[in-house]
Amino acid sequence: VSRITIFTNTSQVVPCIDETVHENAAVIVRDSRVVGIVPARQALETYNGAAVVDCEGGVLAPGFVDSHTHSVFGGWRAAEYEMRARGLDYMEIARRGGGINASVSDLRRRTEDELVELALPRLYEMLRHGTTTVEIKSGYGLNVEDELKALRAIRRLSQQVPMRIIPTFLGAHDVPLDYRERRAEYVDLIINEMLPAVAAEKLALFCDVFMEPGAFTREESERILTAAREHGFLLKLHADEFENSGAAELAAKLGAASADHLGAISDAGIEALANSETVATLLPATLFFLGKTAYAPARRLIDAGATVALATDYNPGTAPSTSMPLVLTMAVSQMRMTPLEALRAATAGGAQAIRRRDVGTMSEGAWADLVLWNVSDLREIAYRFGTPPVAGVWLAGNRVI
Ligand SMILES: [Zn+2]
Repeated sequence: VSRITIFTNTSQVVPCIDETVHENAAVIVRDSRVVGIVPARQALETYNGAAVVDCEGGVLAPGFVDSHTHSVFGGWRAAEYEMRARGLDYMEIARRGGGINASVSDLRRRTEDELVELALPRLYEMLRHGTTTVEIKSGYGLNVEDELKALRAIRRLSQQVPMRIIPTFLGAHDVPLDYRERRAEYVDLIINEMLPAVAAEKLALFCDVFMEPGAFTREESERILTAAREHGFLLKLHADEFENSGAAELAAKLGAASADHLGAISDAGIEALANSETVATLLPATLFFLGKTAYAPARRLIDAGATVALATDYNPGTAPSTSMPLVLTMAVSQMRMTPLEALRAATAGGAQAIRRRDVGTMSEGAWADLVLWNVSDLREIAYRFGTPPVAGVWLAGNRVI
C-alpha cells in the first residue's frame, strides 16, 4: 500500500527544475518519491485522507547536493589559519609541517573506525544545513592501503548517515613527500595499483585529479583520467584553481562530469565548458577563506551557457565549513549570481555534477529529499547569512531533521 504525503501551507515551492517558483502550492509525495506540485486547495481535495505536513508558511526546496567535499580527514589545521593571518605563505606553512601533507600523515596514523567516528558529526552538521546528498573524496592517503582505508570509511558512512554519499577516488590529490623526486613512479602507482584496487572493491564512482602547477601536470592528469575511464570511473578534475593551465579544456575534452574551482579559467576554458556536458563547479568558500579577492567568473560562465554548480569544498585546510547556505551568500554577494541561480546551482547543478537525475530537483519521480526553510521568500536563504534557517529536512520522504 502506497503512502501519500502532502507538504502544504508553503509560501513558496522551489522545484529547481527551471526558473519557476510556485506560490500557495503543495508538494505531493508518494512513499519516497515526488509525484508533483499542485495548487494547495486542489491537493487536499484530490488526496483526501493523505498525511499532511504543515510547512507553516515556509519555503520548500530540494535538499542541497554538495558535489565537492573532502569530508573524511583526521584533525583540524587551525594553526595554519593563524599562520596565514600572520602573513606566512603556502610554502612556508608547508615547511612548518602544514598543508595537505599534514592531513596525509594524520590520516595515515588513524584507523578506519576513527575516520568514521570523526566524519559522522561532520556529516550530520551538513544535514542540519540542508545537504541531503554529498560527494566525498579520498586523497589524504596517497598510498594504496590508506586510500582504500579512506574509501572504505566513506562506504561505511553511507550506511550510517541518512544522506546519499557519492564516493570519489582522489589518489592524485598531491604527490606524497616520499615520491617528490620520482613523481612518474607515483603516477604509475595510481594507474597500475590504486585504480585497479578501487575498481575491484567498487569503492568509488568517480576519479578526480588535482591539475595545477605544483600538483599534477596536464600530461599526468590525462594519463590518470584516461586509465580511470577504462576502469569505468566517471571523471572529475580540480581545474584552474589559482593559475590557468588549460584544465577546464581538458575536462571538457575527456567528457568529465565536472571541472571544479575555476578561479583562473581562461576564455577558451569558458567556451569549452559551455559547449560540453561538463559542469562548472564553483567553490567560493575556499577563495573567501584564503582571503582572495577574485572569484570564479560565474556570470560569464552562466551567460556563455555553461551549467554551474556550487559546493563547499569542505576540507580542513582551505574550507572548514559544511554550510551550503553560506556558499549561496558568497555566490550572490561575490559572484553576482541571483539567489535563485545560486539555489539551483547548489541543488540541480550539483546533481548534474555527479550525473544524477533523481536528486536536486522536485521532478516527477525524483527522491523526496526536501528542505523546509523557515523563511517566506527564497532570497532570504542566501541573504540571512551565517544563521541558516532550516526548519526540517526529509530524505526519501522521511523526516531526518
Ligand atoms: Zn577539492
